Amino acid sequence: MDTIIIDGKQTARSVLQRLSAQIGQLKQSGHTPGLAVVLVGEDPASRVYVNSKVKACEELGIYSQKWALPTETTQEELVQLIRQLNADDRIHGILVQSPPPKHIDEQAVVLAIDPRKDVDGFHPINVAKLVLEDPTGFVPCTPLGCMELLSACGIPTQGKHAVVIGRSMIVGKPMAHLLVGKRANATVTIAHSRTADLPGLCRTADILVAAVGRPGLVTADFIKPGAVVLDVGINRVEDATRPRGYRIVGDVDFASVQPLCSAITPVPGGVGPMTIAMLMSNTVKACKLACGA
Ligand code: NDP
Repeated sequence: MDTIIIDGKQTARSVLQRLSAQIGQLKQSGHTPGLAVVLVGEDPASRVYVNSKVKACEELGIYSQKWALPTETTQEELVQLIRQLNADDRIHGILVQSPPPKHIDEQAVVLAIDPRKDVDGFHPINVAKLVLEDPTGFVPCTPLGCMELLSACGIPTQGKHAVVIGRSMIVGKPMAHLLVGKRANATVTIAHSRTADLPGLCRTADILVAAVGRPGLVTADFIKPGAVVLDVGINRVEDATRPRGYRIVGDVDFASVQPLCSAITPVPGGVGPMTIAMLMSNTVKACKLACGA
């Protein structure tokens, strides 16, 4: 089968180009979108993510603030900073990099963010807006990026059976809501670690989304011939041949699955690049909503 390898880097570039034009128009009318990125602690992977978000802002002309706080920062100090950012008119989006140190209650931090600045889409108000299909809400960036990939590749969703493996609030559940919503009109099944006969269920999927965190979980026996496969997983596996001693793989065993499907996202270079692009998109949206543009 001729398989389309879905190019997330290219689609992310197109999204950023579109945003660049919108940012130019906003600036002409005196409004500059602004994003605050808050990092608590020393986690090296989080540091890389935060830096790449700030870099994306700089490249697009989005005003950004980076707050790198020490690991010992208290919950109250972090909430105080969020209140300050909530009140700062230059800031339209606030992102607190996950995971915070263990002594921080992540849910309390999410609740402290003004829902109008919650560009991660984690606040209960935005979760409700997603379920209600209220377009003024913010949707988590990774599932939003998956929908953008489907749309950019002209992959139809209406009437299709989509199976989403994973039920997290960051990926699985919002992904399922987007697919079942009235814009996509898919019929959706959510699978998780207690799902019976996962391969058999997945073989009924026209669209299969893997958001699990288990390298190579999805193998050829999960795939209905011609299915579209979106691999959200980002997993480090040891690889002595690589300078860093590891490589990044998805949840899908690409080599065995790719020949069976009509389209598939690679890892890296598939869903990953879309996440930052959609964060920029949510920040521009927050600015537009704030200034009534
Ligand atoms: P979570 O750990 O929060 O959720 C994983 C889900 O997978 C859970 O619902 C879990 O089920 C389910 N699961 C675990 N094992 C199995 C199994 N053997 N069979 C079926 N289901 C299983 O992870 P996230 O949703 O946060 O992330 C998922 C993956 O996506 C990770 O690899 C993460 O790194 C990646 N990711 C990628 C992003 C990107 O930008 N591309 C952004 C965010 C995440 P249960 O609920 O029963 O425990």
